[in-house]
Amino acid sequence: MRIGIIGAGQLGQMLGLAARNLDVDCCFLDPSISPPAANCGEVIQRPFDDADALAEMAASCDVITYEFENVPVAALETIAGSVPIYPPPDALRHAQDRLDEKQLFDRLEIPVPGYRAIGSREDLDEAATALGLPMVVKTRRLGYDGKGQYVVREAADADGAWSALGNQSLIAEQWVSFDYEVSVIGVRDRSGEIAVYPLTQNSHEHGILRSSRSPVDESVLIDRAGDYARRLLEHLDYVGVLALELFVDGDRLLANEFAPRVHNSGHWTIEGAATSQFENHLRAVLALPLGATNGVGHAGMVNLIGGIPSAVRDLEHGVVHDYGKTARPGRKLGHVTVVADSASKRDTLLAVVEKTVTQSTSTTETTA
Ligand code: AMP
Repeated sequence: MRIGIIGAGQLGQMLGLAARNLDVDCCFLDPSISPPAANCGEVIQRPFDDADALAEMAASCDVITYEFENVPVAALETIAGSVPIYPPPDALRHAQDRLDEKQLFDRLEIPVPGYRAIGSREDLDEAATALGLPMVVKTRRLGYDGKGQYVVREAADADGAWSALGNQSLIAEQWVSFDYEVSVIGVRDRSGEIAVYPLTQNSHEHGILRSSRSPVDESVLIDRAGDYARRLLEHLDYVGVLALELFVDGDRLLANEFAPRVHNSGHWTIEGAATSQFENHLRAVLALPLGATNGVGHAGMVNLIGGIPSAVRDLEHGVVHDYGKTARPGRKLGHVTVVADSASKRDTLLAVVEKTVTQSTSTTETTA
């Protein structure tokens, strides 16, 4: 079997590594020179919306998938009649527009922070009155890792938000002083079977995921988060892995966004679950039976951002994943996973990894 993967970044690389174990060939589409997934299969080095390259992939692959959510939907539709594309492009369409995404959550009765569509400077004032301050103004499209966002803390900040972002379609959201953030990763196969991974708690820094730990010991949350993920998976007639990010605020669980793809907060599943999110994504889209999603211990993951300190490679506990990317501030270059037989041991190991990363990053050791 041969799978076409749009995008050859680190998620493509981890899909490619999982594909080897399933004896599946990969073909990637990515305009970058030497992307991380280059060692996992053929890379067609063309833009993501290149009609000829997409047609070539469609003709030579059994199924097409993607590893990032800004794939142009119109380009995918040019090959939709000739090859199965999973997850369905409709899921991508919803995830690409924060307003559309929030409205979908509303329709599925998945609670969200209060929000308003913003089309003018006056709308910002109205939103501030309706939602209260602080609120966060976000671009509806193409935002990721906290980019394209502006926090309006007091009325006077609205001008700044408008001059920074006002040339794009926007959404304003109530600022949630959440206790913590979680994500739920679910997978649905081509026959409609659904499996959900143990809940993951995430911590972000400057909008970028810094670390994750799983499982989260809150049974009420687990059931509710799993139920929300199932609603999305079923409603979208989804095939593949989907990640739903949520805020935990007291007893409220509010959806922030979903990603129609494998997700950074599920990297721990490579060592910490019976079947990784990458293998299960491939299994789902290739019509293979899903693997078990149970955890095999207490897992934690720390992202390596901006540099990979050599001290991390000397850690006694921790599996280092190096994506082989050129170091740049704020860039995700790799991650470290630890797995322990109790939550407290996991937290101790994770703290050692975090300390090593923080101390060494300040000495600016980086990979080339
Ligand atoms: P996003 O790009 O929407 O995932 O936002 C990146 C991060 O910004 C989230 O993981 C949160 O830590 C924070 N954030 C986003 N929206 C809100 C909100 N409405 N209230 C509080 N924090 C938020």
